[in-house]
Amino acid sequence: MNITIIGTGYVGLVTGACLAETGNHVFCIDVAAHKIDLLNHGGVPIYELGLQEMIARNRAAGRIHFSTDLAAGAAHGDILFIAVGTPPDEDGSADLQYVLAAARNIGQHMQGFKVIVNKSTVPVGTAQRVQQTIAVELAARAVEHSFSVVSNPEFLKEGEAIGDFMQPDRIVLGCDNDQNGVRAAEIMRCLYAPFNRDHKRILQMDVRSAELTKYAANAMLATRISFINELANLAECMGADIEEVRRGIGPDPRIGNHFLSAGCGYGGSCFPKDVQALIRTASEYHQPLPLLSAVEAVNDAQKQVLVRKIVARLGEDLSAFRFAVWGLAFKPNTDDMREAPSRILIAALLARGATVVAYDPVAMDEARRVFMLDLQNAPAAHARLSLSEDPMQAVAGADALVVVTEWNEFKNPDFQRLRAQLKKPLIFDGRNVYEPAEMSELGIEYHAIGRVYEG
Ligand code: NAD
Repeated sequence: MNITIIGTGYVGLVTGACLAETGNHVFCIDVAAHKIDLLNHGGVPIYELGLQEMIARNRAAGRIHFSTDLAAGAAHGDILFIAVGTPPDEDGSADLQYVLAAARNIGQHMQGFKVIVNKSTVPVGTAQRVQQTIAVELAARAVEHSFSVVSNPEFLKEGEAIGDFMQPDRIVLGCDNDQNGVRAAEIMRCLYAPFNRDHKRILQMDVRSAELTKYAANAMLATRISFINELANLAECMGADIEEVRRGIGPDPRIGNHFLSAGCGYGGSCFPKDVQALIRTASEYHQPLPLLSAVEAVNDAQKQVLVRKIVARLGEDLSAFRFAVWGLAFKPNTDDMREAPSRILIAALLARGATVVAYDPVAMDEARRVFMLDLQNAPAAHARLSLSEDPMQAVAGADALVVVTEWNEFKNPDFQRLRAQLKKPLIFDGRNVYEPAEMSELGIEYHAIGRVYEG
């Protein structure tokens, strides 16, 4: 099939590459000329395991192309995916300007029957707005082309995106039940057939339910994280160990083990903004969501948990201290730093006068860009932040190590060397990567989340 993907970010690029991999002819469009340029020169603007190789393979086979030319893109695809960003607006609602701009562009250029797919995470009712936007543009051109807007939310996880796309646990298709909707559903089923060999993955439903499904999934996952974080803080006061509690509840099939790791809060481009957007949409329906408001508040507080522990141990004035920070990305295996807890932590340490040396296995370029923006009004603080290309170098001479992202390479470092490099043997662990008893044996003072440490 001929596919056009509008927006070549984390979702658009992975979708484009995976659909090319299954034999489709994919045209990826973006307004960011530098991204398209990089892609056309064999580079990839984001870090995602296996993506570069997959794109290279499909480029060589002539199945994937990159361009800024939306007119050509609209002409190419029988299916046009909208995979642009939906960042939070000032009031927390999803900012739909990029989605609607893409819809306008489609309406201005499309010819013949098209399936328009909303892959971006968008509030209930957006498919209808996309449909109306396209209809207005077609009317302005005084042409009639039939089309249908399908909601096909994406559930991939950054860091595991290719596996998630190629072996999805479900493919949600929200389709209208009019003639165009039925035709669109058939085309979408055909496109996804290679990912649905057991005939169990495709879940077809009405458009509004599909739109809400994506928010429901992210809200549920965010709720689990805030739940376990709240309990971790309680466990800590009571002398209980949250890791033991987690082991104790996970085997219950009604609960399960996933998404129950205590830590220094969730970040990323999805959970914070999607929880906020759902609360905002609900308020438009005069239906408050107190549970999700609490989930958000608990997470905001949890992003401060490491700072609270550091201040409790070392005092409010941190100007005499140097901290090594391991992990900047919001989670392992990505370079994405949107809403990353590391940003809150580092800003708070710098604001208290500390010096910070940070390291991340893949997010260093992104970190340079992000901190340039975050600290543009605080040049003195910015001057106290440096990035190290090596984790052990970052630790050399530091008063404490702070672990913020649970990259595999942090899980079993050479502890003797680590201890020798640190000025003080002191670790604050925001991801419960180490065992308190082992740290105690090594003579390392250890502060984790919701864990018992007897030094
Ligand atoms: P992103 O910011 O990485 O990429 C969006 C891209 O769209 C950018 O490259 C931008 O230049 C481009 N763009 C903006 N307006 C455009 C236009 N009019 N025409 C062409 N290109 C345009 O965003 P992302 O992380 O890929 O997320 C995209 C959507 O998917 C969001 O709604 C997000 O909530 C959702 N989502 C993201 C993830 C994830 O893990 N990142 C997972 C599931 C769903």
